[in-house]
Formats: sequence, structure tokens, C-alpha cells
Amino acid sequence: MKAIRVNAYGGPEALSFEDVPDPVPAAGQALVRVEAAGVNFIDVYQRMGIYKNPVPFTLGQEGAGTVEAVADGVTVVKPGDRVSWTSVMGSYAQRAVVAADRLVPLPQSMTTRQGAAIMLQGMTAHYLAKSTYPLKPGDTCVVHAGAGGVGLLLTQIAKLCGAHVITTVSTPEKAALSKAAGADEVVLYTTEDFEAAAKKATGGKGVQVVYDSVGLTTYMKSFGSLAPRGLLALFGQSSGVVPPIDPAILAGKGSLFLTRPTLVHHIASNEELRQRAKDLFDWVGSGKLKLRIEHDYPLKDTAEAHKALEGRKTTGKVLLIP
Ligand code: NDP
Repeated sequence: MKAIRVNAYGGPEALSFEDVPDPVPAAGQALVRVEAAGVNFIDVYQRMGIYKNPVPFTLGQEGAGTVEAVADGVTVVKPGDRVSWTSVMGSYAQRAVVAADRLVPLPQSMTTRQGAAIMLQGMTAHYLAKSTYPLKPGDTCVVHAGAGGVGLLLTQIAKLCGAHVITTVSTPEKAALSKAAGADEVVLYTTEDFEAAAKKATGGKGVQVVYDSVGLTTYMKSFGSLAPRGLLALFGQSSGVVPPIDPAILAGKGSLFLTRPTLVHHIASNEELRQRAKDLFDWVGSGKLKLRIEHDYPLKDTAEAHKALEGRKTTGKVLLIP
């Protein structure tokens, strides 16, 4: 089968389109034909070696497809089932082996492309808005990169929770997309001061939570946007790695809270994985949550997909079609 391998860390040129043997499921695993694989910013970090996997490895940790075979001990899925998964390495390939308890069956109402598009970014948006800081009516939040994969979903879920949502984006085109996703206010943070906008929107008080995936270029102003005892959920670093933070900053800016959450700790149990998936699938099924899948690339063109994602050229979800 074909797969995208990383043999040495590096830029997009490190993505090697290769023939590899089909994987064989071990006990408790299923073999899945990958029909769509999700591209996520974490794949860029892993390709570059910022997050280290021993090389060589097959990249990608999100996808959807059809079960082809199951190994001993697997009863929750069977050949022919349509399934999706997240946080399982080896998804940029024509076939993948996945632990059966990490597979989520797809409802009839969802296409396989939708299944691949919603898992990683959708689960992230879900845990941020429902668990990290459970939003409620009366809250105001800031969502950075509001037209990105996580950003468009988090904006919609924050609105479902009843919050007032301020987003940041880099271009007027992205601002229009973010508005269409439900943002109450959109700030062009490349030219406007989002901290001032957040203060103005809250009558000078500041917001309850900032969901910050941009990192280096935003985190200090994110602190400044918060109300006393507000929470900075620093969940990514698309603009660069945030340096060590002096706890005195939290005191000085209003007894703030800082967390650096990751998805894996929010879907650790099968129950939590399935509960979050159920909410997301129900919202998609009822039309409350819209998926924007604008960018499809053949597997062999994965390097182009990475260049577009890193170059801020994408909005919503980027998929690879093996
Ligand atoms: P996005 O689709 O959001 O793409 C990244 C966006 O970040 C860009 O489109 C761009 O939006 C913005 N950005 C700002 N500065 C830069 C820069 N210097 N270079 C590139 N992009 C920049 O990606 P994802 O939705 O896949 O992921 C968003 C972030 O969330 C990533 O940092 C990712 O690692 C993180 N993440 C964390 C998870 C967790 O559990 N901790 C899980 C999932 C994702 P604009 O042009 O509008 O500024």
C-alpha cells in the first residue's frame, strides 16, 4: 500500500510517498481501509520533530474508512462497518490498524469525509468549550484563529453554549467565514489590537476565557484580555513555541489561571471518546454544527497540504484522500 513516511525530521520535503507492507492487526485491533485522513497542525510538529516520534514513522493521526478485518478479541466492530478515529498514528496511508476501542462507528447520516473531518478538531473544540472552561450564557470568550479548523468548530460550539464570542483572524476573507460561523465580533489581529477589543466588548472588565492556539504572537495579550480570575487555555502554538512563563504574571494580571490542555487526556476512556463523538455527530445531524471541508488533496500531494496549512492558506478542514 501507499503511505506518507517521515524518515528524517524536516520541512514538507520530509514527507515521503512510499510503498510499504499492509499493516497486520494484532489482538484487539482492526484493519481499516482509509477513505479520508485528516491533516492537523500536530502533524506539522511531528514532521518537524518538535513533538518526537522515533523515525521512520507513518504520519497522521485522524481518519475514517471501512473495517476490512478484525483480530482476535474484537467484538465492537466488524468488517464492513464505517468508522472514524483520532489520536492514532499511521493514518496518512491506504490502510491503518486501530485499536478497536478507539474506533467510533459513523451514523448513516454522516459521510466518511465528514467523519474524518470532525474527530480531532471537533473533539478538541468540544473539550475546550465543555470541560476546560464550560461556557455558559453571560460568558464572553476569545477564540484565536477563528477561521481555522478548530476555530470554526469552537466558535459554533461556544455559541451553542450561549457565550458571546470574539474571534481573531488574519484576513477579511477569514473574517467573513468566522462571522458566518456565528462570531459576534471578529478582530483582524494582524492590524488591530485584540486585547483592546476584548476590553471594549466587556465594558473594560475582560473576558472569562481565551482559547489560544496561536501561542507565541498572542499569549501575552491573551493574558491581558482576561477578567480577574479568568482562564487562559493555551492549547497550541501555530505561531511558535511559548517560552517559560513566570507565575508572577498570573498574580499581576488578576489572579489568572493558565492551562495547557491536550486532547489525549480528554478522550482517555472509551466512554468519554464516545460521549464527545455522540454530541458532535448529533449536532452535525441536526444542522447545529456545520463542517467546512474545503481542501481535499490526493495522498501523494501531502506536502502541498502541509505548505498550505503552515502558510495560513487554509480555512476549516484539510483532508487527504488515499
Ligand atoms: P488551523 O486551521 O487553526 O491553522 C492554524 C491557523 O493559525 C492559521 O490558519 C492562522 O490563522 C493561525 N496562525 C497565526 N499565526 C500563524 C503562523 N505564524 N503560522 C501559521 N499559522 C498561524 O489549524 P488546526 O485547527 O489544525 O490547529 C489549530 C491549533 O490548535 C494548532 O496550534 C494545533 O496544534 C492546536 N491543537 C491543539 C490540540 C490540543 O488538544 N492541545 C488539538 C488540536 C489542535 P490566521 O491566518 O487567521 O491567523
